[in-house]
Amino acid sequence: MSDILKITGLSVSAEDKELLHGVDLTIKEGETHVLMGHNGAGKSTLGCTIMGSPEYTVTGGSIVFDGEDITAESADKRAKRGIFLSFQNPIEIPGITLSEFLRNALEQVTGKRLKLWDFKKQLKAAMELIGMDSSYADRDLNVGFSGGEKKKAEILQLLILKPRLAILDETDSGLDVDAVKTVSKGIEEYRKSVGGTLLIITHNAKILEELKVDATHILANGRVAKEGDGNLAVKVLESGFENTLSGVER
Ligand code: ADP
Ligand code: MG
Repeated sequence: MSDILKITGLSVSAEDKELLHGVDLTIKEGETHVLMGHNGAGKSTLGCTIMGSPEYTVTGGSIVFDGEDITAESADKRAKRGIFLSFQNPIEIPGITLSEFLRNALEQVTGKRLKLWDFKKQLKAAMELIGMDSSYADRDLNVGFSGGEKKKAEILQLLILKPRLAILDETDSGLDVDAVKTVSKGIEEYRKSVGGTLLIITHNAKILEELKVDATHILANGRVAKEGDGNLAVKVLESGFENTLSGVER
């Protein structure tokens, strides 16, 4: 498989502070990677930078997606290429229903108008898959949703928008065991039916147990300090970042 994402020597600043200094990270199409690191290590910064958030300035290095340099491209164009980022804290949008939000997002990404009937059928199937009651489709986006329901709404975006690369930023935080199961099932479904590639930011052992992880990257001091296979993620959770990184030059 070819590289879908190749990040080389990436340095990133926000508000005149350098947050990442020379990140190297490569993901092959169809793989599931985990990004770890202590709080404040720069995981969300990296996710937002891959997505093209204007909050962050790239001061060095490059981001290549599917063979094309996208380092200077707008977030909008990246979304059209099939890059998706779920936020650590999903936003609530009063006045826009979950269904309207998803249909609009899908039309934005594909650039095509969708027949309401076709869309509703798709949405219903996806909601059934992740065990979300269909009444949620007509509720305002995330307004009054529990933590678990917000995360399900995000997984729904994966299944409807079918991005080529999905970056999930702590999609599992604050979920009970059953909700984690549902989220992992949704992620698996995305992998299987869409053939999607994943970069998952998580501290959740349960999620890692449920998913087949191809590679783990640990961020420390603004760069990828250590990489390994799926077992490295489990090791980090068992013995902590400091033990895992001891002896590694940082
Ligand atoms: P993580 O997701 O690994 O917990 P973040 O990427 O959120 O870490 O943050 C990394 C560091 O960058 C933190 O010290 C944070 O305060 C800082 N930071 C993040 N975003 C900004 C920003 N927009 N402006 C200034 N500093 C930021
Ligand atoms: Mg974060």
